[in-house]
Amino acid sequence: MPHASAEEVQAAITAVTRAASVCQGVHRALVTQDTITKKDKSPVTVADFASQAIVSLTLTEALGDLTLVGEEDAADLRPDDAAATRDKVTAHVGDALDRPIDPDAVLVAIDDAAVEPDPPTGRFWTLDPIDGTKGFLRGDQYAVALALIENGKPILGVLGCPNLQIDGVAGLMMVAAEGQGTTAHALDASVEPRKVTVDSADSPAGGRFCESVESGHSDQSSSAKIAERLGITQPPYRIDSQCKYAAVARGDASIYLRLPTRPGYSEKIWDHGAGAACVTAAGGTVTDIEGKPLDFTHGRTLKNNRGIVATNGKFHDQVVAAVQAVLNG
Ligand code: AMP
Ligand code: MG
Repeated sequence: MPHASAEEVQAAITAVTRAASVCQGVHRALVTQDTITKKDKSPVTVADFASQAIVSLTLTEALGDLTLVGEEDAADLRPDDAAATRDKVTAHVGDALDRPIDPDAVLVAIDDAAVEPDPPTGRFWTLDPIDGTKGFLRGDQYAVALALIENGKPILGVLGCPNLQIDGVAGLMMVAAEGQGTTAHALDASVEPRKVTVDSADSPAGGRFCESVESGHSDQSSSAKIAERLGITQPPYRIDSQCKYAAVARGDASIYLRLPTRPGYSEKIWDHGAGAACVTAAGGTVTDIEGKPLDFTHGRTLKNNRGIVATNGKFHDQVVAAVQAVLNG
């Protein structure tokens, strides 16, 4: 069974901690709440690029040559009219590394993390530098999501969730390594890391399920019917990003449903690698809506899977059956 080394775990934790701190810094620097409501996308652009650059630089500095499949590439940062954004990204990366860095080195770091997994069955990292950009802009939930994949399976996942709480304080990091369980940390290291596990409910009825805030990302009318079929009476817990997986991994919810809203959409590997690792290592089960394991051997997408069902593992088949009955009914 492949494992992540202690060096890989530590490098991933450092990378995500730095990236989450940059995202928080960019958010704090938003001039006024106005900037957000005007749907100005620039803050999220700066944070996205800076986050990817920092993770790329941190992992390669610690581990040497590696394959990192990130969501972004630097093409939009290269033209002359992108100079202002490029400078902001460079400044944030320099702050996070605590040393000056050349803008060209930042562009290279971003592009180093914009490759295809080759071979797709090998060992590679995948990164969503800001998962849940809509949540980030709203000041709600978002995550920096980093996973190490081997043989088509996540064997290490680190989720930085700056706006999820741990012991009443914002800033949760979840770390899952195959064979070592899932641990909850504070991003500012103020809390002793501790093991988390999925909840122990034997039936879905008393619990709650989580889903995307965005009805364009998950079919919320079908999930309501599935919940009814399963006897779930609590309203859905709607949160952006892979914070949904974190919620299931530590028992805040017992189910995460992600139901396709249109035919032909393939889930992206960086939207699920880290989260799926967290739920699985915490004792839960993650499959697609047909009950098939997630297959990370097809490059940037989970093209052999549709949608997601994550549960505490106690009644997974029952949930998949309810999903199938509603979607095919
Ligand atoms: P969430 O925060 O759960 O709404 O998920 C955010 C992620 O949804 C983004 O990172 C996108 O990659 C992904 N996404 C974009 N369009 C779709 C879609 N049509 N169906 C499912 N996921 C999508
Ligand atoms: Mg994403």
